[in-house]
Formats: sequence, C-alpha cells, structure tokens
Amino acid sequence: MLTLPAYPPSPGALRPPLPDGPRGRAGGRATGSGAQKRRAARTRGSAHAVGLEEIARRLGARGIPAEVISGAEAAGRWPGMRFEDTVLHSPDAGVARAAAALRELERRVVAAGGEVRWHTPVRAIEPDSDGVDVVTDAGTHRADVAIVTVGAWTEKLLGGAGLGLPPLRVTEETPAHFTPRMPTTPTEAFVLERVGPVVVGAGFSGQGFKFAPGVGATLADLVLDIDASAAEPFRLPRG
Ligand SMILES: Cc1cc2nc3c(=O)[nH]c(=O)nc-3n(C[C@H](O)[C@H](O)[C@H](O)COP(=O)(O)OP(=O)(O)OC[C@H]3O[C@@H](n4cnc5c(N)ncnc54)[C@H](O)[C@@H]3O)c2cc1C
Repeated sequence: MLTLPAYPPSPGALRPPLPDGPRGRAGGRATGSGAQKRRAARTRGSAHAVGLEEIARRLGARGIPAEVISGAEAAGRWPGMRFEDTVLHSPDAGVARAAAALRELERRVVAAGGEVRWHTPVRAIEPDSDGVDVVTDAGTHRADVAIVTVGAWTEKLLGGAGLGLPPLRVTEETPAHFTPRMPTTPTEAFVLERVGPVVVGAGFSGQGFKFAPGVGATLADLVLDIDASAAEPFRLPRG
C-alpha cells in the first residue's frame, strides 16, 4: 500500500509519486465528496521497488509529512502490530473509498459535459490516418482520439491494433467471494501512451486506483497535446 494524502496541500499532491511523476496536470481533489478517509498509513520496507527513504523524500518534496522508522520503534508505537523491517509512517495519509470515488469521478465527467454509457461494450477500436472508429452494438462512433482504459481486457480489445503493447499478464485474486483480475506488465510500470489516435492507460499492476486522478490528467494531456508524452518509465519502446 502506498499513501494517498487525505487532504492534499496542493492539487499537485495527487500526482503519482513515481520517478519524475507522469506528465500532466493535477487531476483535482475529491475531498468533500466522502471519497477519501483520513487515516495514517504504515508501509513496510519490503513492499516497494524503490526504498522507503526515497519514497519519504519524494513525499517530503511535495509537502506531505513522512518518516522512516525501524520495525522495533514502530512496534513500540503501535502495540499489537508486528513489523519485520523498516516502516514508512505518513500521518496525513488516507484510504480511498472506491465506490464513492467512482461516483465522484462519474459526477465530474457528467458535470464537464461528458456522457457515460453503461452496458455498452466496445466491440472494436479501429484507428486510421484521420481518427478512430469506436464500434459498439448501438453504432460506430467516430472520434479524433479514443482513450482506452479497459484493464485486463486491453489485449483483447487492442491486440490487433498494432500498438506494440507489452504483454499484460493477468493474475487473479480471490478475496472473500469474488475474483478480480489484475493486469501486470513485465516491469510493473504502467503504460500511459499515445499511438496515433489511440491513447492507452493500462498495466496498472495492482496499483492503479490511488493514481487515478494523476493518470487521468496524463491521459488528457496525451489527447490534447500531440507532442506530449508521459514520463519515460510509462512509455512504450520506440521502434
Ligand atoms: C484484489 C485487488 C486489490 C487492489 N488493491 C488496490 C489498492 O489497494 N490500491 C490501488 O491503487 N489499486 C489497487 N488495485 C488495482 C486497481 O484496482 C486497478 O489498478 C485499477 O482498477 C485499474 O483501473 P482501470 O480503469 O485501468 O481498469 P479496471 O478497473 O479493470 O476497469 C476496466 C473497465 O473496462 C471495462 N471494459 C472491459 N472491456 C470493455 C469493452 N470492450 N468495452 C467497454 N468497457 C470495457 C470493464 O468492465 C471495467 O469496468 C487492486 C486490484 C485488485 C485486483
């Protein structure tokens, strides 16, 4: 678990704290919507590819309090919890309430003039030199650019579009009564890329929800600015 600030001091605080951060504007704050719950987060050292010191440094650079303490000190502070290695403590972190966050994001799409069509699967994405056809059972929609964020179904929908996506290994987990699917890239880096008239957000490797506002801002930049690109770890290899 990484930390999502409950009350970010600036809009930029919701950008993903990854190397350089993906390019893009802040995605806006969902506070006040009940989408986040303030709660300190404690993150174990072995859970992350980059060290906790580095994560604490990046949080600090964004004005988010964080400290790295030993497992023994953490056990003393929070009796009843056992820590096997170092701990990153971020007192301002929070937990995203998934259902409320999704309702808030949909509300904002509609408020901005967008339209949400439930129960309308896209059967095909067909890019050409002028734009893209989005094919559904209810008709084909022509667009200048299509953003495709279909999670574990990305290869199924875009596999034939020749975008050069990395292989997405889909793992399954069965927490309680349901089985969610988790698409994972070989490096676990997200794919945030534009290829012609198709913008892809995929391969979130079990880490995508908390970064949704920053990812959305980056994907919007890729749509609006033909010269934009995400930070290097999130791009597809150029041939
Ligand atoms: C067990 C589990 C725990 C997780 N815990 C966390 C966590 O603590 N923090 C965190 O940040 N992330 C977590 N994640 C990861 C997070 O849920 C994902 O990274 C995130 O949901 C990815 O968002 P997405 O929109 O790309 O894909 P999804 O959420 O998978 O959404 C894709 C959507 O596309 C739709 N779709 C598919 N095909 C089509 C089509 N042809 N036409 C139209 N629609 C289509 C699907 O129905 C689906 O609604 C967890 C994931 C799992 C499985």
